[in-house]
Amino acid sequence: MKKEIKHIGVLGAGLVGALLSIYLKKRGYQVSLYEKREDMRKISTDFGRSINLALSRRGIKALEDVGIIEKVKKIMLPMEGRMMHSQSGELTFQPYGKDGQFINSISRGNLNRILLDEAEANGVEIKFGYTCKNVDVKNTSVTFETPETEKTLQFDLLFGSDGGYSQVRQAMAKTDRFNFEQYYIPHGYKELSIPATEEGDFAIAPNALHIWPRGQYMLIALPNLDRSFTCTLFFPFEGHPSFESLQTPQQVLNFFKNTFPDSLPHLKNIQDEYFKNPTASLVTIKCEPWVKNNCVLIGDAAHAIVPFYGQGMNAGFEDCWELNLLLDKYDDDWEDALKEYQKLRKKDGDAIANLALHNFVEMRDLVADDKFLVQKKIEAKLHEQFPEKWIPLYSMVTFSDLRYSEAYEIGKKQQVIMDEVMQKPDILENWESVDLEQIVRKLES
Ligand SMILES: Cc1cc2nc3c(=O)[nH]c(=O)nc-3n(C[C@H](O)[C@H](O)[C@H](O)COP(=O)(O)OP(=O)(O)OC[C@H]3O[C@@H](n4cnc5c(N)ncnc54)[C@H](O)[C@@H]3O)c2cc1C
Repeated sequence: MKKEIKHIGVLGAGLVGALLSIYLKKRGYQVSLYEKREDMRKISTDFGRSINLALSRRGIKALEDVGIIEKVKKIMLPMEGRMMHSQSGELTFQPYGKDGQFINSISRGNLNRILLDEAEANGVEIKFGYTCKNVDVKNTSVTFETPETEKTLQFDLLFGSDGGYSQVRQAMAKTDRFNFEQYYIPHGYKELSIPATEEGDFAIAPNALHIWPRGQYMLIALPNLDRSFTCTLFFPFEGHPSFESLQTPQQVLNFFKNTFPDSLPHLKNIQDEYFKNPTASLVTIKCEPWVKNNCVLIGDAAHAIVPFYGQGMNAGFEDCWELNLLLDKYDDDWEDALKEYQKLRKKDGDAIANLALHNFVEMRDLVADDKFLVQKKIEAKLHEQFPEKWIPLYSMVTFSDLRYSEAYEIGKKQQVIMDEVMQKPDILENWESVDLEQIVRKLES
């Protein structure tokens, strides 16, 4: 039976909630978007949060779909590959994909502002300073603390796009047969910055995502439009070295001098920023179902993942894109559309969560490993000669529309085959003579 849906509430005006509200408004629904923070277009709220993100194919296709990609392109900076910095300051560039394939560094705040402008221009009602205090899953109602008073509002349908610590999800978790798991990795992160040079230029190459891989931890840097870089230190909370073990400005300086020596001349305010900027944790959240009565989870609220594949936002945008496609398919029959949304996206959410956890090992450790780099070269050659038959996992996730769950399964099969190839004793010297056709046949069998 078709649900009668007129007024939709969207809780959380972050990246995903703002995009979702545009999609829903374009379909003709009355859409109200609620956000606990102040309007970021009037008051800067970026402090202490991840300042830039990598936007790739899945996110871009959704932004194209709602017609705002041209505005977004103006704030995108292409990153064509990884620039690895060894401890001795040697640089190695590893392209992400084929020529012309790149990911994009984008300011979280500016992207969110564009999305909010667009939502407003389309007629979405946006309420800032509305903090959700309680969700009634049975009645599809939300109690808000607002600047004036507390009020309870009721909707025909409610989306929880309120992030990793979602109140909507917490309310759903109190109902029967709701599964939930969360996992904190032992590492946290802290943001630092590389300002533009005195001449107003980028201090390091702007067309790459820079990585200082150091085994158990790493530093990364993504370029910004103002020619600065936002750096993120992914570091264990405890142990040696760790956030716990670096207690004084001198210890921080010594650590960077020994561990990331070529970064230090560019990190102009390292000692200050290290102690001033917050240390945040990294969590993976999986839950099920995503739909309970008339409440629906989307984005990080449904699938918070660690950031090592650069896919959290992209996955959330793809949720919106997919849901819109399903509403087309089912002629806005919400019951059928939501059933399929949950079935498809839950599987994909789990897959990208697992991939992201695995990619941390790759980024912080393997990218500096000779064997791993040779494997990547073989895979690039395979892709060049058999572009339809062997697509490297990173490309499937980042540059294609293939379901995350399918990419994950194909990636596992590829890895088994490559493990075998890489066991050849002379592989590092003779990698160019491996039988590529045989490898592809194995994948197809
Ligand atoms: C260090 C780091 C780096 C990352 N890098 C990338 C990357 O390169 N590429 C990528 O694709 N993704 C990346 N991500 C992931 C990305 O940031 C998230 O996936 C994305 O922000 C999720 O968007 P969202 O709208 O679902 O949630 P959020 O961005 O968390 O937005 C939730 C919104 O809900 C509001 N809210 C929360 N609770 C309430 C309440 N009770 N009442 C009212 N409002 C509420 C919040 O204020 C917020 O505005 C990264 C994440 C981190 C931590």
